[in-house]
Formats: sequence, C-alpha cells, structure tokens
Amino acid sequence: MGKITIAIDGYSSTGKSTIAKRLASTLDYIYVDTGAMYRAVTLFALEEGIINDKGKVDEATLIDKLSDIHLKFVPNTETGRSEMFLNDKNVEREIRAMRVSGFVSKVAAIKEVREKLVKIQQEMGKNKGIVMDGRDIGTVVFPDAELKLFMTASPEKRAARRYKELLEKGEEVTYAEVLKNVEERDRIDSTRSISPLTRAKDAIEFDNSDMGLEEQFERIHDYSQRVIAKVG
Ligand code: C5P
Repeated sequence: MGKITIAIDGYSSTGKSTIAKRLASTLDYIYVDTGAMYRAVTLFALEEGIINDKGKVDEATLIDKLSDIHLKFVPNTETGRSEMFLNDKNVEREIRAMRVSGFVSKVAAIKEVREKLVKIQQEMGKNKGIVMDGRDIGTVVFPDAELKLFMTASPEKRAARRYKELLEKGEEVTYAEVLKNVEERDRIDSTRSISPLTRAKDAIEFDNSDMGLEEQFERIHDYSQRVIAKVG
C-alpha cells in the first residue's frame, strides 16, 4: 500500500496534535509536531537573552545564532511519544509553558527561522508516510500533500481546552490569559507576511467546536483510508 503525506494545519489549540499523533500511530506513519520546533527556537532565544524584558526579539542576533540551534525529536520509550531536544537537552516540558507561548509567534514570523525549519521538515517527510501538523504544512512545506486538513474551533472552546491542559501540567495561569494568548497567536500567525496561517485551497475544513475526539478521529481516519486506497 502506497504511503501518503498528511498535512494538518489550523488555529492554536484546535486539537491538531492529538488527532495527528493518533492518526500517525494507527497508520504506522511518522508524526511531526512543527509547533514544537518553533517553540524550541523561542526557548533558545529566551535563554540566550535574545528577547529583552520588554518582549522585543533581537532578530539580527537570533538569525546570527541560528546555526547554533540543533533540534531533534527523540522517542520516549516509556510513553512511545517523541520529545523535543534542543542542543541535546530535553525541553519538551519547557517549550509548552506560557513563557514560550507568549513569544513563539513573534519568532515564527522571522523569515530566516522559517527557512531553516521548513527545510528540516521537508527532509523529514521526503519519503512520505508522515503526518505533520502546524500552520503552513499544506500551503508551504508540503503543497503536494495528498491529504490536507484545516482545523478550526471557536476561540473560547480552544482556550478552555488549553487551559485545562496547562492546569493539569501544574502551570499557574488564568483562563483569561490563555484566551488572550490563543487570540493573539492566531492574529500574528494569520497576518504575518511570510507563510501566514491560511487554509490551502484543497484542504478539508474541520470545525470541531462541538465534535468529540472519537467522531473527529473516525472521520479523519476515514478520509485518510480513502486517499490511501486511491494512491494504491
Ligand atoms: O502548534 P503550536 O501551537 O505548538 O505552535 C506554536 C506556534 O508556532 C504557533 O502559534 C505559530 O506561531 C508557530 N508555528 C508556525 N508554523 C508552524 C507551526 C507552528 O508558525 N508550522
């Protein structure tokens, strides 16, 4: 059976990664969370003092130091999930914190950052058999992907999901802060000049505001089976 490329894009906290992970594991495909890569670059910038107290990103210095950033996904043998390593350090937990969420969209708007990460992503998917989630996968990274999905849900529903996740991780955060962050990231991601978040013309739009995980997964799995059967 031929392998395909599955691109899942959409707004923040639409549950892209939950669906993508499960789909990849069911199909025995590779799963790549590209948001983790932008988050790791942002963590690097924070740790190196490239983002100042006022939240300004020193773009020239970050671009200069891009070659010092080495990213790796390493499978965790206990959970079976891949974790992000930045310069050989496991940063999976740190990159999900609000500190990183607050700056990631600014860092992701930098052309040179995107060029570096897109190149790595294209290399990871060159043999197909991949489910990749992000903001520009169906439009820029894999414009020829055989299956493209675009996930949406109301900002309130998305913020509520994210808030619950963060509380479970022990982060001290309010619902209002999470909602503000989700909306702000969507705004920056959709309006940036390079690779803005937008639905690829041939992507299937999926509003999951009122849809449970099981129903979503079944439908998406169904789409993938049909496309895989066509590819032969
Ligand atoms: O997917 P996640 O919410 O972890 O992504 C964090 C941020 O990384 C997004 O808000 C966006 O700014 C950036 N991103 C991007 N392009 C991607 C994936 C993520 O610009 N392909």
